[in-house]
Amino acid sequence: MSFSELGLASEIVRAVTEQGYSAPTPIQAQAIPAVLCGGDLLAGAQTGTGKTAGFTLPLLQRLSSTLPKTPGTRPVRALVLTPTRELAAQVEDSVRTYGKYLKLKSAVIFGGVNVNPQIKTLANGVDILVATPGRLLDHLQQGTVNLSHVEILVLDEADRMLDMGFIRDIRRILAILPKQRQNLLFSATFSDEIKALADSLLNSPAMIEV
Ligand code: AMP
Repeated sequence: MSFSELGLASEIVRAVTEQGYSAPTPIQAQAIPAVLCGGDLLAGAQTGTGKTAGFTLPLLQRLSSTLPKTPGTRPVRALVLTPTRELAAQVEDSVRTYGKYLKLKSAVIFGGVNVNPQIKTLANGVDILVATPGRLLDHLQQGTVNLSHVEILVLDEADRMLDMGFIRDIRRILAILPKQRQNLLFSATFSDEIKALADSLLNSPAMIEV
């Protein structure tokens, strides 16, 4: 199975080929078609399995193949939440790398750094926002980010986010998002707390485990 056989556009296949990826990893082979179909996804995957490309590639494809619902502006259409700033930066780097031949803008926001450059970036328009929950909530409270056009939500390393005590922040963010959206949840482990989050978040998800 090749990346193009999974249904990915030539711009995306070109970018992953340049990374030296010759074939999809098992999680990618399962996640990419599921996400391209537009449904929700519950994925059990550890770091190192290629899970980041597993959600980033089909997410890029979905956004690039449809126009924003509000032409002229660039509302956030995909939101990726991660537990740490290191992971947020890494995921956004992957979005940039895999999306280099597409006309989508991405940004990363996390705590512990000056908020002003982030405010400026958000004001300029971002299609794909990668964020840690705490700093994203700060922006929501300040009115410096608008999440009312989010079409795809990804919770990456959801178990670590819960371990770090982010459940209340996540719930507050979820409450603000449009009800009609695609949800992807990635977790290495499945505690009762993760299962409860998945139950409340996901609609008839495809389930994959590697
Ligand atoms: P991840 O599990 O998303 O953290 O990815 C682990 C590593 O695998 C990263 O360094 C990726 O660049 C690499 N990777 C992802 N997909 C592939 C692939 N299909 N072929 C080879 N390497 C890959």
